[in-house]
Amino acid sequence: MKRLEGKVAIVTGSNRGIGRGIAIAFAKEGCKVIVNSHKDSKDAYDVVDEIKKLGSDAIFVVADVSKESEVKNLIKKTVDKFGKLDILVNNAGILVSGSVTTLTEKDWDRQMDVNLKGVFLCTKYAVQQMIKQGKGGRIINISSIAGLVGFPGISAYCASKGGVTELTREVALDCAIYGITVNAIDPGVIVTDMTKSMLEDEPTKKMLMENTPVGRFGQPEDIGNAAVFLALDESSFITGHNLVVDGGWTAR
Ligand code: NAP
Repeated sequence: MKRLEGKVAIVTGSNRGIGRGIAIAFAKEGCKVIVNSHKDSKDAYDVVDEIKKLGSDAIFVVADVSKESEVKNLIKKTVDKFGKLDILVNNAGILVSGSVTTLTEKDWDRQMDVNLKGVFLCTKYAVQQMIKQGKGGRIINISSIAGLVGFPGISAYCASKGGVTELTREVALDCAIYGITVNAIDPGVIVTDMTKSMLEDEPTKKMLMENTPVGRFGQPEDIGNAAVFLALDESSFITGHNLVVDGGWTAR
């Protein structure tokens, strides 16, 4: 028996990058997946096809996680198609560069809207659905080590992830009596479009590698494997936790 057989998961921002890695890792364990992105994208249909080839099932739902009506529709489409929602992975995110002295108000708001308000909205409507079902659930937030330690030049991003890390603990307490666990994963440097320009710049790449003791950057599968672990029935006593998956960055 596959370890997530019979489960239904929404993975936000799963047409590429870490979200795609999580969606595929879930599908390999028999989980049905709602693939999401904020715009119509061929990548998303490719992920749906890949999941079907793995013997599981998936649909693609377009929703901007920072828009309440679109988030409500995301949950509705999930329940219409698969009858329930067991797991929500709040993965969708953007990285807006800028230190406090250069960042505009508009950029700050855009960063917070997607990375923090998006997590709030998706969690709100997912938890309401899970409580209605009465069988518990799993919320997994993809935060960042930038929510634990500072990174120069990305102040709004760090603040948004610090918010996700703390929101995780608070929602875990609110949801404990319902059997809904709420945890975060804090990735280090993972090879995706988000880190592409950093990894193409040799001095930056060298600095990032020097700070990653295991001697390699992470892959989306590394985060997918951690998400599977938190999604398992056997992980029901783990809640309010921030699972660092960073190749040792924050252990130094
Ligand atoms: P990515 O490759 O840039 O992918 C971001 C994903 O989020 C895309 O699927 C994107 O969809 C989606 N997205 C963006 N805005 C959205 C919105 N408003 N509504 C719905 N979906 C939206 O980034 P990634 O590296 O995979 O990052 C995924 C998560 O991991 C983020 O929360 C990021 O902060 C976190 N993280 C990444 C790293 C890293 O090193 N890569 C480290 C720590 C934490 P579109 O394709 O439609 O734009």
